[in-house]
Amino acid sequence: MAGMASLNKSEQMFGRACKVIPGGVHSNARYIKPHPIFFSRAKGKRIWDIDGNEYVDYFVNHGAIVLGHTYQQVDEAVKKQMDTGLAAGYESELTVSTAEDLVRMIPHAEMARFTGSGSDAVMSAIHIARGYTGRKRIVKTEGAWHGTYDYVCASYRPPLDGAGPEKTPHTVPESAGFVHQDVTKNTLVAPFNDSGAMEKIIKRNKKDLAAVIIEPIMHNCGAIMPKEGYLQSVREITQDNDVLLIFDEVITGFRGAPGGAQEYYNVEADISTFGKAIANGYPIAAVVGKKEILEVSGPDTKRGSTGGFGGVIFSGTFNAHHLAVAACKATMAELRDGRVAEHLNRLTDKLRKSVEEISTDLHSNMRVEGLGGEFTFYFSNHEVTNYREAISTDGGTGARFLKLQKHLQDRGIRFLPRHIYHHGFSYLHTEKDIEELVLAIRESLPHLDS
Ligand code: PLP
Repeated sequence: MAGMASLNKSEQMFGRACKVIPGGVHSNARYIKPHPIFFSRAKGKRIWDIDGNEYVDYFVNHGAIVLGHTYQQVDEAVKKQMDTGLAAGYESELTVSTAEDLVRMIPHAEMARFTGSGSDAVMSAIHIARGYTGRKRIVKTEGAWHGTYDYVCASYRPPLDGAGPEKTPHTVPESAGFVHQDVTKNTLVAPFNDSGAMEKIIKRNKKDLAAVIIEPIMHNCGAIMPKEGYLQSVREITQDNDVLLIFDEVITGFRGAPGGAQEYYNVEADISTFGKAIANGYPIAAVVGKKEILEVSGPDTKRGSTGGFGGVIFSGTFNAHHLAVAACKATMAELRDGRVAEHLNRLTDKLRKSVEEISTDLHSNMRVEGLGGEFTFYFSNHEVTNYREAISTDGGTGARFLKLQKHLQDRGIRFLPRHIYHHGFSYLHTEKDIEELVLAIRESLPHLDS
């Protein structure tokens, strides 16, 4: 583990980037103050920046690197696929057999379709739910992120003075450029982990309600774990009221169990979306679900394959791009037998217990929550159960975590410096890595209040 040198080259690159890229980054989530770090390569569990600093990576590509950077079996499959010459825009045995792999692995899945990104997958899942039910409205939970599609990109980080009552939050669109009246009318917001509040919102709106979309673990507030029985209750309430349940497993997918959070918690959704870890960092996502429901997105075969669409549109030049599908197939082959999930869960438990011990020893309120190698650090005296509690942790600013992040980075351990963000590790991270991380936390903790 090399110590930190400078970040001069990153600083200079940021100046250059800002001249041609708004904000200097291609995704706003990558912007950090005073400037992002620019990277040159990654391998296994490590990543190197353009100044030559080496880090053990606990960002792992927003959670997408489930196996490790440059994981041999995945990269070999991609290289082999490259030799076939097939890239975008074709169907092949590979695109069929990989859909079969997903259907075999995910408990409720009878059909699967590939998209280019998690946002696309969520957009299509909602179109499908609306097309199937003939209804417009959806419910999402406050604090959840489901990508940039207008109708879900709301109430991710609503300011509390405009977020409305705790049990019936207002819908707060996250962006200019949306038709705000449409979003607020058709997207309803419920607090996470409160099935009573969810039931009331569903019952009041059931005539117009197509679906409830939920992150089974609300990782977009760090790692808010579902209370015991919460996901089961939401499943029952949606079923009783004839509303579809969409699990957005873009982060939870394949980490806690080979069939995702729905296998881990034994709750079956009607439609699910997967992305990130589905192909160990290659750009692909999927919508999966029950046959009867997913089929509304199929082409109108009576009118010919190039004719109009029967129900819900589902289209994309890069859908099922062969290089990404090859990566997906190779990733699934590694995940299928459960040994990766077992490793990730064991290391997450080790981290949780070790931090608990340190916190007791050092009278800190730092805690770890997470599953399957996706986790967060909360500075909180009690369990965090929803968005409003999460943003109030660590003094509401994340000051202690941001200091911790700096201490760790100086020791060559890389976390994204963001309050209530989900961090992660891969199959190639070892017990020793976790021990080194825990030791670095122990050394840093006494210095976070100064
Ligand atoms: N759903 C969840 C739960 C996510 O965390 C994300 C991205 O972070 C998305 C959907 C959108 O995926 P993508 O960034 O691939 O568009």
